[in-house]
Amino acid sequence: MVKMNDIKPFEKKVWLASPTMHGEELEFVKEAIETNWVSTVGANINELEKLVADYIGVRYGAALSSGTAALHLCMKLAGERLNPGAKPGQTLRGMKVFCSDMTFDASANPVMYEDGEPVFIDTERDTWNMDPVALEKAFELYPDTRLVVLAHLYGVPSRMDEIAKICRRHDAILIEDAAEAVGAVYNGDIVSGKCGTFGDYIAISFNGNKIITGSTGGMFLSNDLSDTDKVRKWSTQSREDAPWYQHEELGYNYRMSNIDAGIARGNMLHISEHIAQKKAIYERYKEGLKDLPVSLNPFEEKAEPNYWLTCLLVDKDAMCRQVRGEKEYLYTPEPGKTCPQEILENIFAINAEGRPIWKPMHMQPLYRMKPFVTAKGYGRALTNAYIDEGETEDVGADIFSRGLCLPSDNKMTPDQQDVIIEVIRRCFD
Ligand SMILES: *Cc1c(COP(=O)(O)O)cnc(C)c1O
Repeated sequence: MVKMNDIKPFEKKVWLASPTMHGEELEFVKEAIETNWVSTVGANINELEKLVADYIGVRYGAALSSGTAALHLCMKLAGERLNPGAKPGQTLRGMKVFCSDMTFDASANPVMYEDGEPVFIDTERDTWNMDPVALEKAFELYPDTRLVVLAHLYGVPSRMDEIAKICRRHDAILIEDAAEAVGAVYNGDIVSGKCGTFGDYIAISFNGNKIITGSTGGMFLSNDLSDTDKVRKWSTQSREDAPWYQHEELGYNYRMSNIDAGIARGNMLHISEHIAQKKAIYERYKEGLKDLPVSLNPFEEKAEPNYWLTCLLVDKDAMCRQVRGEKEYLYTPEPGKTCPQEILENIFAINAEGRPIWKPMHMQPLYRMKPFVTAKGYGRALTNAYIDEGETEDVGADIFSRGLCLPSDNKMTPDQQDVIIEVIRRCFD
C-alpha cells in the first residue's frame, strides 16, 4: 500500500458506475402501479421501444429482460438464416462464430446457448475492440464462417469501416453487441451513425451499471419488422394468435416488465447529460494523469465514445512485476513503477471502486479450448512468457495485464476525482 496517511477514505463509496436516477423514473413506475400495468405489457414498454429506436436511429426495438436475452435471440435469428430447420438450442450447431475476445462473457455465452463454437478474435490497440486484421486472418483460417459477434468496449466504437468491409467481403452476418455503447457515434467513410445501427441483429443492455439503466433489461434493435415481431413472440413464450395458449415453436420468458421499462424510460430522458458527465470524467483523468507513464482507453478520430468507463493503461516500462493466477495475484512494489493490482488496492483503500479490464475470453477456463486468432494467425501457441518480454502478439492479454477501469460514476464530484488522481500518482512514487 502506498503512503496515504493524509488521505481520508470517502465517507460514501465512489462507485465504478452506479445507476443515476432523476425523478421521471419514479413517475413512470408510479403511473404503472396506479394503473395496474405492472406486468410485461404497458405504456412504458411501448414508449421505451419507440424512444430508444428513435434515439439510436433504427426502426424497431423489442424490450427484453436483459442484454443477454437480446443477444440470445440475435443468435437464434442468425442461426435460423444460416441453418434453417435446426432445433432450438442447436441453431448454430457445427458452426464457428467469430467473437470479440476482450469483453464481458455475456457477449459470447449466447453462441454456446445455440451450440455454436466461439472463435475469439484478438483486440487491437487503437480502440481495444476486435482487430480487423485478426478478423481477416480468422476468415483465412475458417473460411466457412458466416457469423461475427462484435462488442464496442467501454463505450468506444469499433473500427466499423474495416469490420463492415470484411463482413461484406465474406458474406457474414454481423451481430452487434452495443450493450456498453448506447449513445456512442461513429462517423466512418463506409458506415456511420450511432452504435446499435451497424449490425444485422443488435442488442443493447439496461443493466444497473450501464449508461442507461432500467435496473435490469435490454433491447433487440432492428430495421426489420418481421425479425422484431419474431423476437417479441419468442420472448413471450411464442404464443400464437389464438383464443387459448397455443404454441407452435419453443418460446422464452424474456420480455421486459412495464416497471423496469418505466425506470429505463425515465432514465433515457437523461442520456445526453450522462454522456456529458462521463466525458468530463474522462477529460479530468486525462488532464490529471498527463505527465505519468500511462494512457487512457483510446478511440479513433472518427468516433465519439459515450465514455461509459475511463480505463487506464500503464506503460510497459513503468510496470512493476505483477503475476496473476486464476483467482489470486502477487506484485512487487518498485519505486517509480506500479501495476493495475497495486492501483486497484489503493483505490479500494479510499472507499472507491475500480476494476480490472475484462479478462479476455480466450484466457477464461470456460473457453480455453476454443480457438483464438491474433493478427498473426492462430494464437493458441502463445504463452505469458512472451508477454513479459514485450513480444506478444496477444494484445488482449497485454491490455488485461497493464490496464484497469477507473471509478467513472457520474455522481463522483471533481474533488473526489482529484483524490483518486492523487492516489494513482502516489502509486508511481
Ligand atoms: C452488460 C453487457 C452485456 C449483457 O447485458 P445484461 O443486460 O447484463 O444481460 C453484454 N455484453 C456486454 C459487452 C456487456 O457489457
